[in-house]
Parts: sequence; structure tokens; C-alpha cells
Amino acid sequence: MNVIFLGPPGAGKGTQAQRICNALNIPQISTGDILRRAMKEETPTGLKAKSFIEAGLLVPDEVIIDIVRERLAQDDCQNGYILDGFPRTVPQAEALETIAKIDVVVDLDVADEELIARLSGRRVCLNCGATYHVSHLNGETKCAKCGEELIQRKDDSAETVLARLNVYHEQTAPLVDFYQKKGTLKVIDGAQDMDTIFESILAVMKG
Ligand code: AMP
Repeated sequence: MNVIFLGPPGAGKGTQAQRICNALNIPQISTGDILRRAMKEETPTGLKAKSFIEAGLLVPDEVIIDIVRERLAQDDCQNGYILDGFPRTVPQAEALETIAKIDVVVDLDVADEELIARLSGRRVCLNCGATYHVSHLNGETKCAKCGEELIQRKDDSAETVLARLNVYHEQTAPLVDFYQKKGTLKVIDGAQDMDTIFESILAVMKG
């Protein structure tokens, strides 16, 4: 089953995608994680993406579409996958139509005020992609899953968070309509507790 996780930054796409992928043994394809790894390794794509990411802007469509096209061609995607953070613009969604058949689009719906609180307290592991909130870390600075040092993403700083939310409303929110018209959209209240959201996602994926 090929699934898209839609929703604003901080809605819980990454956390839930990781859980669902572990449960179903399918890959989580996070374009944000791919770009952050490329930045860390200073690859040509990483260097190109850096200024956009740090300003809270979207990386150009053609760069991201090439990344996704290559990734979806790999063997581990043959039995399904979750796209986490792609597509984010209508041109990306249109390009995806020519690359893959999407079965379900899960839209995690969360109010802006809650997103701001979540993102500005978020800490992430660049090694395994796990995310935490400072309010639950009790001063811990290492990843509970892999032991790597946790960081605050530059784009989780207060002013960049607002820019990312604007970008979401202007460029990504139109995809809700796009997929509603296709009949694949399932909206889930992302303010519920994590286990309820997880069960709701599994239920809509089972149809
Ligand atoms: P994320 O981890 O999904 O919040 O992505 C972090 C940043 O990577 C975004 O703010 C964008 O700058 C960039 N990015 C990730 N996915 C995409 C995409 N599908 N299109 C354009 N830029 C992206």
C-alpha cells in the first residue's frame, strides 16, 4: 500500500510514519530526513538545499521530485511505503501521479498554536530521525533509541517556524483539496493522543 502523510510541520507525520512503517514493515520516505542527511554529508543536493531549509522555504520542486523518483525505484518500495513530507506543492503532486499510484492520503489536522508549541520545543536525532519534545526529556541530551546527541533543528527556531507555517498554508494546504477530489483523502485529528492517532491511521489504511 502506497500512502502519503500530509499535514503541517509539527503535526506528527514523522513520529506516526515511523510507528506505522515499523508495524507494517514498509519504508518511511521522509524527504526532510533525506535532505538533512545530504546537508550533513555536504553532497551537492545538500549544499543546494541548505539555504532554503534554513529559511523555512521549500526546496525547488525539480530537486525534490528527482530525489523521490530515485528513492521509489528502489527494491524496498515494491511492497508499499509511506511518503512523509512529500508532496508539498501541487506540481509535486502532479509529478507523483506519473511516478506512483497512491492508495491513501492521511491528513493530520492540528491548529497553528499547537504546532508552534510543538515545533519550538522539538529536539531531533539526526542519526535515526527520532523526535522528542523538551518537556519530556528531563534534561536528557541523547537519543533514547540510538544514543546520538539530540539537536534543535535550525528551522525549528521561533521565527522560521512561522515562515514554515505560512509556506504550508500557501503551498501545501491546496493539496487537501487536490486529494479530496481524487477521493483518497482521510482527515485525522492530530491533536488526539499518539496511540489513538496510530490506531486511526491503521484503520483508514485498512479501509
Ligand atoms: P520536514 O522535515 O518534512 O519538515 O522538512 C524540512 C525542510 O525540508 C522543509 O521545510 C523544506 O525546506 C524541505 N523539504 C522537505 N520536503 C520537501 C518537499 N517535498 N518539497 C520541498 N521542500 C521540502
